[in-house]
Amino acid sequence: MDSRVAVIGGGFYGCSVAIHLAQQGADVVLFERSPDLLTRASYHNQARLHNGYHYPRSFSTAYRSRLNFQRFLHEFRPAIVTEFVKLYAIARVGSKVSPRQFEVFCHNIEAPIRPARSCFLDLFSPRLISSVYETQEYAFDAAVLRRLLRERLAQAGVTVKLATAIAAVEVGTVNPLTVVDSNGNGAGVDYVFNCTYSGLNAIAGIAPSRLRLKHEIAEMPLVQLPDELREVSVTVMDGPFFSFMPFPNRGLSTFSHVRYTPQSAWTEAAPPNPNPYITLESLEKRSNFGFMVRDAQRYIPCLANMVYRDSLFELKTVLVKNENDDGRPILFEVDPAQSRIVSLLGSKIDNIYDALEAVDQYLSAA
Ligand SMILES: Cc1cc2nc3c(=O)[nH]c(=O)nc-3n(C[C@H](O)[C@H](O)[C@H](O)COP(=O)(O)OP(=O)(O)OC[C@H]3O[C@@H](n4cnc5c(N)ncnc54)[C@H](O)[C@@H]3O)c2cc1C
Repeated sequence: MDSRVAVIGGGFYGCSVAIHLAQQGADVVLFERSPDLLTRASYHNQARLHNGYHYPRSFSTAYRSRLNFQRFLHEFRPAIVTEFVKLYAIARVGSKVSPRQFEVFCHNIEAPIRPARSCFLDLFSPRLISSVYETQEYAFDAAVLRRLLRERLAQAGVTVKLATAIAAVEVGTVNPLTVVDSNGNGAGVDYVFNCTYSGLNAIAGIAPSRLRLKHEIAEMPLVQLPDELREVSVTVMDGPFFSFMPFPNRGLSTFSHVRYTPQSAWTEAAPPNPNPYITLESLEKRSNFGFMVRDAQRYIPCLANMVYRDSLFELKTVLVKNENDDGRPILFEVDPAQSRIVSLLGSKIDNIYDALEAVDQYLSAA
């Protein structure tokens, strides 16, 4: 590929797309508004390397996760933490999936599962939890991912411009496209890949997504687990329940609750919409940890001894169309007015292979 490309957004998706394009011969510049790479959703997340279990209501999302899991494990092995037991538990009341349905679903996607040993089963309230399974799911260390991506960007020859927010993309005569930063500096390119996640619809000159976006301000407390839960991670399915996962870079665990993690949410309407990053910055941050732990300890009594350390607050952006099935496809859209501009909404970290496949299909048709 003999072209100049601007990739906007230095999260996991933007970095991966930039490396992929540079490896094919493109002259790539990556623009990131923060002072470092992977500081936003790609760092502030639950660090779960999905293996399908989480999506019993979206077979395609679960199945894609199963396919991507091994490949991700192979390509990012130094960033993967495996030394914990991952338990999926089914709530007796209010779950959208029964134990039998969960077992059949895991069987259909060929995800390993077995009834939990009694040492783990005893952690749960039998009044509220009907079944517990040991599964195979891992965590990733986002700081190690960042280091690996930095090295791969350098090897591929990508120019990285940090602390550079792109404000507009202009169509020109000398250059097909010019990306203009917030200080008015412009760079001429042939293609633009907009990988700005929550900022997808906030750059002038790029058409807003045809599919509606929902933004959520999510809080994930970072906690120290009680001794009984050392090296254990739990997800209670499938409804207004909770989950805790290792957050390897801080030596703590994230704690999330379907009811209390989203602190506010809004769907985008006709433009102009507020820039979600500015909305988050202006928000007063207050923790819902108390509500979360009071609910969760009914299911796992020893959680009463969990210790709160800190909270991660981050924007989560998803497609409104997946509200009901909880599916997490990527969004890949070519700008209707300018076929050299592509907007790509990242999804789960392992969905990156779906994104790179879409990039290849787009380029082969271009
Ligand atoms: C609370 C939460 C929990 C999650 N848990 C998991 C999980 O356990 N497992 C999983 O696989 N996925 C999880 N996800 C989803 C996953 O983290 C994201 O889908 C993924 O990180 C998106 O990557 P990205 O590169 O598209 O976005 P980001 O990492 O947010 O990168 C976008 C980048 O664009 C930059 N940017 C924005 N506007 C501009 C601009 N105008 N100019 C220049 N730069 C700009 C931003 O600063 C940012 O660095 C979670 C997400 C959240 C929020």
